[in-house]
This record gives sequence, structure tokens and C-alpha cells, in this order.
Amino acid sequence: MASPSENAPQASPLLKSLALCLNVRPFSKTSQMVTWLTLEHGRVTTPVKGAQRPKSAFIGRYDVGYTCELVFYSRERDGVHHIRECTPILLREGLRASWRAAEAAAYACDLTLRTAQPGMANPELFRILSNLLDTLPACAPHEATLALLWFESNLLQAVGLGPDFSPCPRCAPSPRGLFSVEEGRFVCDHRPSRLRTPPTLTLHDDIPVLYRRFLDHPLTETLAEARAADRRDDLGRPEPFPGVFGLRRFLGVFLSAHLDLPPGPRRTTLDLLIG
Ligand SMILES: [Zn+2]
Repeated sequence: MASPSENAPQASPLLKSLALCLNVRPFSKTSQMVTWLTLEHGRVTTPVKGAQRPKSAFIGRYDVGYTCELVFYSRERDGVHHIRECTPILLREGLRASWRAAEAAAYACDLTLRTAQPGMANPELFRILSNLLDTLPACAPHEATLALLWFESNLLQAVGLGPDFSPCPRCAPSPRGLFSVEEGRFVCDHRPSRLRTPPTLTLHDDIPVLYRRFLDHPLTETLAEARAADRRDDLGRPEPFPGVFGLRRFLGVFLSAHLDLPPGPRRTTLDLLIG
């Protein structure tokens, strides 16, 4: 391992935080660039020089889905910090034993990477991603999708981008409403859109109900309820709660509009998990 003086600027105080490993990518022949969600400092990126050399002190000490104790230098350049130490705390080997769990974890970590801000702690985001990663290995095939919908709903809320599903107090209650995706709320004659041609979706009210249910119930409880429900949709597919397919579609549109995401990776992941 390179000595600290060789690796990092002088007089840069060290920071220590629990960190979830979100992404590992090659960087030069033997080095890696690792992106983390730290509990106390938000998103952090650290190059690990010589990571792939057999004698590297960092070999086997991080991988996507690990929780580690990360020690890094506070000084950053272009959002990149020098790493000092990394101690794996929770390896979550189960994520690597099932391709479904691995695929779902990689998608959730990538979504977090695109959402979390550098230097901004978001303990709630850290908590929900930890919950998901802890839970995925034990999920049955169709439950991985449900777990991801739970995670996406809670992620939107954790980063303050959650949709406003409150109904118009002046409209008669209706099972369907017109929802403005960009404004993130229902629109009607009383509360018209401010956009000239708003992209709108007609939402059945089981979608907001399911979204709120995900926010109000921990993941393990949600999955236990889903197992107990043993419900199927008209086509015989497992649909533990009404609105699962609708919420899946809604979140796809909403996430790509608000997080500036390409729709491809999400669709691929969800299709793989179901198939
Ligand atoms: Zn109204």
C-alpha cells in the first residue's frame, strides 16, 4: 500500500464514515475508481491506485453492495478524494449468489449514484439502500421487482422529489385523476397546469395508495404482507397489491423526468427480474 504521504496531499484532515459501495470501475491498467454513498458526507468518489495488483492492501476490501468503514482525505479535487483505509463491515455475499439479487442491487446502487449529492449527507437514503441490499438475497423472483418499487418510492421521498398525490379539495372524489408528470401533482380545472403542453398521465387511485403504503411500511413488512396476500392480477401474474403494474409504469416515467435518467437500464433490469 502506498504510504499516505505518497498518496495524498499534506495537512488534509481525514474523514471517517460508514459507506455503501455503489460502483467500481476500472481506471488505468491496475487502478479502480470507486463511488460510495457515505453516511455522513453523501456521495464520495475515491480512486484506488494499484487496486488490482496482487499485493494491493485494498484487494477484496470493497465491492458493489458492501458496507465499509471508509477513511479518506477531506480535500477533494473535482469531487474526488484520496482513500486512506477501507474496512469491510458487511459483505452481503448473498447478493453475489443470485443473479437476480445482483442485478437488482446494481440497478439500485446506480440509481443512488445518480441521485445522491457529493458533500450532502442523506441518512434516510443510506438507510433505505442498506435495507434493500440486506433484503434482496432472500427475495423470491417476483419479489425483487416489488422491492425495487419500494426502494424507488422511498428514494424519491428521501431526496425531496416525491410526487404530490394530494387530491383537489374541490373536485368530487374520482378513481382516476390527470397527473402532470413535470409538475409532480394532479391537475384539474381548479388547479390547472402552468405548462402549455404538460405531459400528463391518467392515474388510477390505487397508484398513490400503493406509493404511500411503500413509504409507511418497512421493506421486510411490505414483503411479508405481499406473501400473505398471495394475490394475482387478471392475467394470473403475481400482483400482491393492486396498482403494482401501474406504479411500475408511473415510476418509470416520473424517475426519468425528474432525475434525468435514460429509461433503458431500468426497463432492462425490471424485464430481466420478471423474466
Ligand atoms: Zn379540482
